Amino acid sequence: MSEKRPKVVILGGGIGGIKAAKQLAGKPVDVLIIDHNNYQVFQPLLYQVATSMLSTDEVVYPIRGFFRDANNVNFLLATVHAIRPEDQVVVTSRGEIPYDYLIIALGSTPNFFGNKEVEANAFPLKTLVDSIEIRSHLLSVFEAATTEKDPEKRKALLTFVFVGAGPIGVEGAGGVSELAYDVLKKEFHTIDFSEVNIHVLEAAPDVLLMMPEKLRIEAKKVLQKKNIDVKCSMMVLGYDGEKLSYRPMSSPKDAVPDTIRTKTVIWSAGVRPVDCLNGFDVPKDRGKRLLITNHCQVQGYDNIYAAGDCSSFTPEGQERPLPTLAPVALEEGRLAARNILHVIKGEPKEDLHYKSKGVMAIIGNSEAVMSVGPLEGRGFLAWLAWLWIHLLTKAGFHANISVTFKWIFNYISGARLGRLITRPEIPSTLPDPERKEQKERQAS
Ligand SMILES: Cc1cc2nc3c(=O)[nH]c(=O)nc-3n(C[C@H](O)[C@H](O)[C@H](O)COP(=O)(O)OP(=O)(O)OC[C@H]3O[C@@H](n4cnc5c(N)ncnc54)[C@H](O)[C@@H]3O)c2cc1C
Repeated sequence: MSEKRPKVVILGGGIGGIKAAKQLAGKPVDVLIIDHNNYQVFQPLLYQVATSMLSTDEVVYPIRGFFRDANNVNFLLATVHAIRPEDQVVVTSRGEIPYDYLIIALGSTPNFFGNKEVEANAFPLKTLVDSIEIRSHLLSVFEAATTEKDPEKRKALLTFVFVGAGPIGVEGAGGVSELAYDVLKKEFHTIDFSEVNIHVLEAAPDVLLMMPEKLRIEAKKVLQKKNIDVKCSMMVLGYDGEKLSYRPMSSPKDAVPDTIRTKTVIWSAGVRPVDCLNGFDVPKDRGKRLLITNHCQVQGYDNIYAAGDCSSFTPEGQERPLPTLAPVALEEGRLAARNILHVIKGEPKEDLHYKSKGVMAIIGNSEAVMSVGPLEGRGFLAWLAWLWIHLLTKAGFHANISVTFKWIFNYISGARLGRLITRPEIPSTLPDPERKEQKERQAS
C-alpha cells in the first residue's frame, strides 16, 4: 500500500500561489491549488487591456496549463469563504477541503477606504473583468460623445480621472492619453479633442513616491506632455457617477470641495486583503494583512504559510513592510513552498531575504521611468527595459510572442485593434442605473 503523502493546499493561483506550486511540482507532496478563476492574471498588463493595447488572452495563463507535467499538482475552481485552522480545513463554495499544510496567496482587492459612494461608482482596475469593463466604458463614452449636444454633458463624457498616482494610475493615465490623442483622434472625426481632459489625483505629496525625486520630476514632465493634469496632496471625498469632489489635504474639513464633472473615475489608490480573510483570527498589520515570520509562516500556526499581497513582513531594521509587488509575491511563494519541503524532510527552514529588484513605470509609447539599483533612467531605453522585464516575468511562451508582435505593431502603426465594446449599450450621460445598482449591492 502506498504511503499517504502530505497534502499542501494553496489558496490563490496568482503570482505567489503559482510560484509556490511550481516549487512543489514533482515533489513527494499532493498539491491542490484553489482559485475562483481558472487562469492566472498578469496584473501589470491589465491597463493595456483596458486601453485596447492587448487582448485578454495575452495577459492570462490557464492555471492547469502550468502543471501539465506535474501529476502531483491539481486545481479546484472554487471560491474560498473561510479558513478553520482548528479543524485544518478550508471552507469553499465546493465544500470543506482538508489540508496538512496551507499556503495563503489570495492577493488583495481595491481599498476604497470605506467610501461606499466611490466604491459604487468608480471603476477598480484589479481583475481581468475590471479591465474589460473599463475598456468597454472608455470606448463607449467616446461613442456617446459623438451625439451629445449638451457641451457640459459632452465634457463629462470626455473627462477621465485616475485616483492614485502610483504605477497603476500613472500607467493607466498614460494609456488613456495615447488611446485618445494618438488613436481615436484619427477616427472620431466629429469630436473636438481639445474637450478631452485627463486628470490624476493623488493624496500623497508626489507621484510615484517609491521613485527617486529626479525621476518623479521627469514623470510629471512626461504626464504634462501627454496632456494629463496631475494634482497631488488631494483627498477624494465622493463620486456619485457624475461629479467627483475633492479637496486639498491641507484645507479645513468644512471647506467647499472642488469638483470635476466626469463619467469615468478609475480607482487605483491602494489595496487591502480579500474579505474571506476577515474572520481568520491571526495577528495582522494595520492594513489587515497577515503578519508572517521570516519563514513566511502565519504567526501562531506552524503549518500555515502566506505569501504576496495578503501577507505582511517587515524586514529587520526597516520601518515599513515589503510592498505589494509581484517580485515580493514570487519570493514569498517560493520560500513558503521550500520551507514546507524542509519541514517534511526535517531540515532547517530558510529565512526570507528580499532584495528589491527596483521600480519602474511606463507612461505610454517610448516613455518610462526606472530606478534599478544604481541605474536610473527615463525615455526610450527605460521603456524597452520595462517591456522586456514584463515579458520575462509574464507566463506563457505563446502569449509572449504575440504580445511582442502586438507591441511592435502598435508602436509602428499607432493602431489599437482590440477595441471591443462588450457591454450591450453605450452609456447615456447619466449614470448607468443597472451598473450603479449592481455595484451598490456589491459594496453594501
Ligand atoms: C493594475 C495593476 C498593476 C500592477 N503593476 C505592477 C507592476 O508593474 N509591478 C509589480 O511588481 N507589481 C504590480 N502590481 C502588483 C502585483 O500584480 C501584485 O503584487 C501580485 O499580483 C501579488 O501576487 P499575489 O499572488 O499575492 O496575488 P494575485 O496575483 O492577485 O493572486 C491572488 C489570487 O487569488 C485568487 N482569489 C482571491 N480571492 C479568492 C477567493 N475568495 N477564492 C478563490 N480565489 C481567490 C485570485 O483569483 C488570484 O488568482 C500591479 C497590480 C495591479 C492591480
